[in-house]
Amino acid sequence: MIVAEQNIFYKAIGSEVEIFNQCNGLKLPLLLKGPTGTGKSRFIEFMADQLGKKLITISCHEETSSTDLIGRFIIKGAETVWIDGPLTMAVKNGYILYLDEVAEARPDVIVAIHSLTDHRRELFIDKLGETIKAHEDFLLVASFNPGYQKGFKELKPSTRQRFVALSFDYPQAKVETEILVQETGVDKDIAQKLVAIGNKIRNLTELGLTETVSTRLLVDAAKLIGNGLSKRLAVHVAVIEPLTDEQETLQALKDLSDLMI
Ligand code: ADP
Repeated sequence: MIVAEQNIFYKAIGSEVEIFNQCNGLKLPLLLKGPTGTGKSRFIEFMADQLGKKLITISCHEETSSTDLIGRFIIKGAETVWIDGPLTMAVKNGYILYLDEVAEARPDVIVAIHSLTDHRRELFIDKLGETIKAHEDFLLVASFNPGYQKGFKELKPSTRQRFVALSFDYPQAKVETEILVQETGVDKDIAQKLVAIGNKIRNLTELGLTETVSTRLLVDAAKLIGNGLSKRLAVHVAVIEPLTDEQETLQALKDLSDLMI
């Protein structure tokens, strides 16, 4: 069998690779904390690829229930058949299950993963009355956006304490520049200017933005520039417009960025 080379690019920011490997070896669940667009998903894809493990990602939202994760009976002709959900599949086959934005999910999801996050490492399937032991390669990873501003859900302390937790944040300017160049092939001086704009806006805390400029937004701007869009316009549409709908703030940020690129 030929396995395609994936070559997922991920630039390590701190000790996250070592911590992930330790958690994987010790079968400890891992929680990635941090704002959106700081490389959490990319990191998991990279680690899964490095370890040759299959990864299932679930983007949790307010309707995500334990049934969605564990499985359900469906009617097929005259019969009802049980279909494993992604969590059950991952538990049985030893995959990595990544619950992105776990705090958004319904509370029964948190209840369902409890027995998987401690020494028991087992999943109770209430609809079947069965308990299954996790495959020894199974690993649970979740992400959470602490978002100190309104609109974000909190994760209960009793849940957080079931995980080893790693913080993700915007990288240092030099590292972020390298990410933009590697990821998009944009010239280094343009990458540096984009990162400078990003950092300038991140420091404008008085704007009270719910979320500020992420690496993802800078990557998008670099891609548009690389594809021929004018630099200023690329920054306007990829970096500034996604941040707010407030006209005055938009104009002020556009004026500011025009001076910088
Ligand atoms: P999150 O899961 O934290 O919301 P992502 O992993 O989706 O963020 O990252 C968004 C984008 O930012 C990625 O697609 C990638 O282009 C870029 N990125 C952010 N951090 C890194 C990093 N450390 N190495 C490589 N790419 C990164």
